[in-house]
Amino acid sequence: MVKDITKFDSILEIADYFKDQETCKKHLEQLRWGNNIVCPHCSHENAYRTTVGYKCSSNKCYKKFSVVTKTIFEGTKIPLRKWFMAIFTFINNSAGISSVTLSKELKITQHSAWFLLHRLREIMRSATPKKLFGTVQADETMFGGKESNKPKSKRAKKAKGSSLIGTTKTYIIGAVQQDGNIITTLSDSNAEDVLIPFLKDNVEEGATIVTDAHRGYQNLPNHNYTHITNKHGKHKFVRVVDDVKYHTQAIEGFWSIFKGAVKGTHRYISLKHLSKYTAEHTCRYNLRKKKPADKFIGLLGMVSNTTVKYEKMIAGKYRSQD
Ligand SMILES: [Zn+2]
Repeated sequence: MVKDITKFDSILEIADYFKDQETCKKHLEQLRWGNNIVCPHCSHENAYRTTVGYKCSSNKCYKKFSVVTKTIFEGTKIPLRKWFMAIFTFINNSAGISSVTLSKELKITQHSAWFLLHRLREIMRSATPKKLFGTVQADETMFGGKESNKPKSKRAKKAKGSSLIGTTKTYIIGAVQQDGNIITTLSDSNAEDVLIPFLKDNVEEGATIVTDAHRGYQNLPNHNYTHITNKHGKHKFVRVVDDVKYHTQAIEGFWSIFKGAVKGTHRYISLKHLSKYTAEHTCRYNLRKKKPADKFIGLLGMVSNTTVKYEKMIAGKYRSQD
């Protein structure tokens, strides 16, 4: 009897159902191709079955491939079953999961777990969000480690006469639709020339944007938005206009989930990888109303169609960390 995977709500069911590499491969094949196998090298739609996979039937290609070719599973030694379990755990833990914890749960090395998690995050970063509309809350938060906590050799140099050290801090800018999705980005500035273009790119014209009193948002009405300012800038402040309550609690809630996860789960995030962690938490937030199985199916669908190259992922020196 085929089990209905949309009803799975624990990692045990994932582990039982996806019991071996063959079962996982079959599932991926259905997900990726349905009944129409497409060559990942040239997109030709006819392939020969071989003992280990497929061979393209186009005489211009003739290349071998399998269901993992050009996906994030390509070239890893981690069995698909463990990938599937990792995906389920990763997407269903609201605070994320560290490579140390995942390595213990799946009995893989921390290095492998770190690599696997970063591949998943990279996929989440590549998602293109739909524009937000209606009532949208916008805000920014600063992110950066204390210089004094770092080893001396790693500390950024202070510019003369300045107390700010630009290289260690960055802003996460976000907009969240009421009861809907969030979109985030990173910037080294939270000035108007960053905030307004971000909102124009990600929020439909005519929307009502709720922000705190930060000056960078003041010109929103000149860009076809209705702007509601929470002048007090207090966390729980609600402004009522024409009997409608406006506040920025959703976006502030997201910052606190993210910062809580950084502190509790990841411990330390380097700025180099910050965009992947924000993408991870953004994606998870946007799936928050779905059932555990649907989150798993959603992320598995995303990852089964995309390749992430290791070299591209780790620009510069490799460092295994959370
Ligand atoms: Zn081909």
